[in-house]
Amino acid sequence: MKIIPVTDVRHKAATIPALAEAPTGLLTDQLTRPLRDLRISVTDRCNFRCVYCMPKQVFDKNYVFLPQTDLLSFEEILRLATLFVAHGVEKIRLTGGEPLLRKHIEKLIAQLSRLTTPEGRPLDLTLTTNGALLAKKAQSLKDAGLRRVTVSLDSLDDTTFRRMNDVDFPVTDVLHGIDAAHAVGLSSIKVNMVVKGGVNDQEILPMARHFKGSPFILRFIEYMDVGASNGWQMDEVISSAQVIERIHAHMPLAPIEANYAGETAARWRYLDGGGEVGVISSVTQSFCHECTRARLSTEGKLFTCLFATQGHDLRALLRAGHTDADISGAISHLWRARSDRYSELRSQQTANLEQPLRRVEMSYIGG
Ligand code: SAM
Ligand code: SF4
Ligand code: SF4
Repeated sequence: MKIIPVTDVRHKAATIPALAEAPTGLLTDQLTRPLRDLRISVTDRCNFRCVYCMPKQVFDKNYVFLPQTDLLSFEEILRLATLFVAHGVEKIRLTGGEPLLRKHIEKLIAQLSRLTTPEGRPLDLTLTTNGALLAKKAQSLKDAGLRRVTVSLDSLDDTTFRRMNDVDFPVTDVLHGIDAAHAVGLSSIKVNMVVKGGVNDQEILPMARHFKGSPFILRFIEYMDVGASNGWQMDEVISSAQVIERIHAHMPLAPIEANYAGETAARWRYLDGGGEVGVISSVTQSFCHECTRARLSTEGKLFTCLFATQGHDLRALLRAGHTDADISGAISHLWRARSDRYSELRSQQTANLEQPLRRVEMSYIGG
């Protein structure tokens, strides 16, 4: 039996500075980027085996997922989230793995939805899901206080979709999930499509047509070199420019302003008034200079970049009985030291490293 360890076990304990400063909400890193977004991975498990994320050859029946005791408890997540909010976080996204697989996720949502920014505003609380359980859970998620949801959907064609999720899951169930989310009143529902050349790029136009004029905003994501198990190659990336070109040839588009500074998706509107689409150019046009995002892994490690090779163990501090002031100090210490800009350095880095560092998996750290 061969087990390929893809969860990154290398990590540093987070450092507690001798003189912990009180949170001001104005924390910035080495590149003057504030801390505004926190992505929390609530499970490393998933009911899909998307070929670009958790390929079956690696995430098979021998794959060892984290034991329950390693996961941050809801109390631990809430405590950390509260400290992050005091440091300036305004948006929290629950992710995974598949976040709807985490038992009683609604309880966590209810707790997080009561958090407010230092100015008293409610948080922008959202969740990214593959949609498989959404039809069943939309109402309870909404009731718990979830405001928005993003659904990943890579194809409308059932055969292509089943091939991509690799567990033979039918596309109609995800479409029902999206409709259910809308019906219960979850707002600004986004649909994210990862485009992998030669696999689902023929679905760009059908997806655009389907969601044009609907209440849902479709966004195309460039296939990224995250993790170490998807066998990423640059020639499988369909650039955002190509996506826009293909749609524009049939349904003319014009660029529009970002909703806010640091928005990851570039927005385009249909000239005939049919709404908008977005493109997330993580590979061809990096947005590191405005990246305000921290990621908390399922077992409580803080990653300051999606492509980081090392997390900082906050769970160890929680479980060693440190005070809020200590942990808050550790968070500010880490963010102040942050200088990550992997995407900007991507080409240089891959050229320079004979053996690239092993990166953590998207399913572990959250997308
Ligand atoms: N399971 C949930 C889902 O699929 O929405 C949440 C976790 S998933 C890791 C979050 C997002 O990451 C999804 O939209 C997924 O399509 C995206 N993703 C995963 N691997 C990717 C890759 N190699 N390149 C680009 N996006 C990727
Ligand atoms: Fe699961 Fe989401 Fe990864 Fe697909 S992209 S395997 S649904 S975690
Ligand atoms: Fe942010 Fe890292 Fe992605 Fe750059 S590469 S946008 S720093 S997560």
